[in-house]
Amino acid sequence: MLQDQAPNSAGHKPSVCVLGAGIVGVSCALELQRQGYRVTLLDRSEAVIETSYGNAGVLATSSVLPMNNARLWKSLLPMLTGKSPSLRYQTGYLLRNCGWMVRFMTHANEASDSYRITALSALVRKSIELHQQWLTQADSQQRLRATGWLKLYRTPESFNAAAYERRMLQDAGVDMQILSTEELQQLEPGLQQTYHRATWVRDAASVDNPAQVTLAYRQLFIAAGGQFRVADIRNVRQTSQGFELATASTELSCEKLVVALGPWSNDLLSALNCKLPMAYERGYHQHFSSTAEQPLSRPVHDVDGSYVLTPMEQGYRLTSGVELKERDAPASPVQLEAIIPSARQAFPLGQPLDQPWLGRRPTLPDALPAIGEVKECPGLWLATGHHHIGFSTGPATGQLVAQLMSGQDTDIAPQAFSPNRFS
Ligand SMILES: Cc1cc2nc3c(=O)[nH]c(=O)nc-3n(C[C@H](O)[C@H](O)[C@H](O)COP(=O)(O)OP(=O)(O)OC[C@H]3O[C@@H](n4cnc5c(N)ncnc54)[C@H](O)[C@@H]3O)c2cc1C
Repeated sequence: MLQDQAPNSAGHKPSVCVLGAGIVGVSCALELQRQGYRVTLLDRSEAVIETSYGNAGVLATSSVLPMNNARLWKSLLPMLTGKSPSLRYQTGYLLRNCGWMVRFMTHANEASDSYRITALSALVRKSIELHQQWLTQADSQQRLRATGWLKLYRTPESFNAAAYERRMLQDAGVDMQILSTEELQQLEPGLQQTYHRATWVRDAASVDNPAQVTLAYRQLFIAAGGQFRVADIRNVRQTSQGFELATASTELSCEKLVVALGPWSNDLLSALNCKLPMAYERGYHQHFSSTAEQPLSRPVHDVDGSYVLTPMEQGYRLTSGVELKERDAPASPVQLEAIIPSARQAFPLGQPLDQPWLGRRPTLPDALPAIGEVKECPGLWLATGHHHIGFSTGPATGQLVAQLMSGQDTDIAPQAFSPNRFS
């Protein structure tokens, strides 16, 4: 039996176990600790190796228009039938998840887009503020670049196709500037490709190593007395006192439980009969050296090339689009291979520095995360389903969980993220 936490006594806040030490779980642990809870953070891995390691590191004020937006109806058929590396799918996976697909598509309309942009923007903006504070507290502020990021368009057609996105983001107050070919060349002289236009999202930011940022926050939690344990949680059971968690060799109990297991959340939620309608948008990355005399100063999203390229501590990280496939199917990095030539056209990438990495973005049908307490299972809290923008929304997710659990007024309206919206 792992050390049991002391039972709740008058004047003490309950003990909380947070499952998953990615950016979302660490943020929950830190904020709950700051509210006075006795928090144990658990992860099966000591190192940060999953989604919070492999993302593109963008704190993206502009990624709040979800993939299932009103424009998707126009682009869906070409995406499904074409050869664009932005989307790859396994037909069997789509058929097995056709209920999820139908629900996903019902949100592809302007009214839903506006609602979701408002909800996600609040989460991203508060998170950027918290990232800034926490990086300063962790003495790691040099990891944050407040240089925005760029969306690059090779043709007038692709630029025009993004008009809806620009309008929606402008309405949401995102600070963007359209750049001509020459203006882009001045801003990022290392780019070799001639682009028709670029959108510079000026109020976005990026980090040079998401895993190290996550670890720095975990260290803040530990330094303030928080417990971090390496434990592969195999099962969970609700009891009259709270929850019993089982690993292969031991058990651990807590009064409240926060599930922040990203794409693995349903593995445990099924034991509590609280599964979420979750699909997995897989994605790949690989690092490259570069011979460029002028390094990139910010991440770039080459829309026609279907990739994001981010200058990272480890080299230039090239990230791919979406692969809809079973979560645990073997890696098949053909999308990554397909984008390398376009990325080399745009920027002088040298040799690959490592093997392709595979990650999974957990996505709920409305492309909003689930944050809050589960009505049917009091004491069970969810912080999961952050799809493409969990690094941009993790800190505010943690704050929202902590404020809700404490019964405080929340900085962000929680309704859109209620985990009970699917029941
Ligand atoms: C290619 C790619 C690019 C991306 N780019 C961006 C970006 O630029 N900006 C952005 O904001 N977001 C981006 N994202 C999304 C972002 O990375 C995720 O939304 C975010 O990292 C999710 O964090 P998390 O803590 O929920 O999950 P994770 O980081 O996956 O953490 C889940 C944790 O649970 C642990 N775990 C699983 N099962 C168990 C178990 N049984 N017992 C104990 N522990 C367990 C795992 O070890 C893991 O550490 C990208 C994602 C991908 C795949």
